[in-house]
Amino acid sequence: MNLLVVGSVAYDTVETPEGRRDGKLGGSATYFSTAASYFTRVGVVAVVGSDFAPDDRAFLETRGVDTTGLESAGGRTFRWSGSYVDDLNTAVTRETQLNVFAGFRPHLDAAQASAPYLFLANIDPGLQRSVLDSMAPRPVLVACDTMNLWIDTSRDELTRLIRDVDALLINEAEARQFTGEQGIVAAAQGLLGLGLRTLVVKRGEHGVAVFQQDFTFSVPAYPLATVVDPTGAGDSFAGGFMGYLAAAGDTGPEAVRCATVAGSVMASFAVESFGPDRLGSLSAADVRDRFGAFVELTRFDTLGRGRDLPFKGSCT
Ligand code: AMP
Repeated sequence: MNLLVVGSVAYDTVETPEGRRDGKLGGSATYFSTAASYFTRVGVVAVVGSDFAPDDRAFLETRGVDTTGLESAGGRTFRWSGSYVDDLNTAVTRETQLNVFAGFRPHLDAAQASAPYLFLANIDPGLQRSVLDSMAPRPVLVACDTMNLWIDTSRDELTRLIRDVDALLINEAEARQFTGEQGIVAAAQGLLGLGLRTLVVKRGEHGVAVFQQDFTFSVPAYPLATVVDPTGAGDSFAGGFMGYLAAAGDTGPEAVRCATVAGSVMASFAVESFGPDRLGSLSAADVRDRFGAFVELTRFDTLGRGRDLPFKGSCT
């Protein structure tokens, strides 16, 4: 197993301007692993309840996701309900039921514990920590995500976790909330100051910005006329991003640029349907073509080699 994710596997009830769906398969680990599965062998560590449908486990397995770590417990599966009716960029949580996640204590087997790439998807920071502490040897790259709920309720634990990971992926609003800075660059500096090597700020329809101490890179979101359901866009971005890096076996700046586009590609597919249906049914050509569309979206000629800006005569 090349890439391991711990996060939620959920049943979501979601309302968007395009409609409402009740009890759809969702969760941070579901979107992440589905997106990553196009690039690398990914395994999930999570828990579901006795109400979890065999078809939903089969959805992940059909994508080649290793579900050995998807434990089944007595009780109900995690449930989240949210609305994007007022703003497609911001989920308003209506209800969170931890259910079987409340008592979940993950135990990793040898293949899971030695995965070289680890993603701690959005879930209680205590669970993220217990998975990180179970890894041996330490993975090549550990990244984590979080959300406003954990910033409010588990700030100290979250801060300790951020100090111990290599990369943080976070929404723009949450980066502001965590640092108290209004500007994205100041917020990035504050977060990098905790010792992160890489910070990825997810900006919804405005795309994504990546910060390292001496490196900044930004990609727009793919321009879609209709966003059906933004749920899982951030996790799908993370799955494409980490899946690309794990497959490339490289975490240098050029790989990070391509991984950022791969993540943006997967996020753009995720929002085209309710739940992970569209994300889970792509061909290699679909993914390749959209990657090419991103190249076109951001391509322009460099200066030099006989080309300059059309300065007027008095400008030297
Ligand atoms: P995002 O990629 O940020 O849109 O993540 C959406 C997913 O996060 C949904 O499928 C939810 O099931 C899941 N989710 C929402 N709240 C939580 C939470 N507190 N802990 C873990 N997962 C959550």
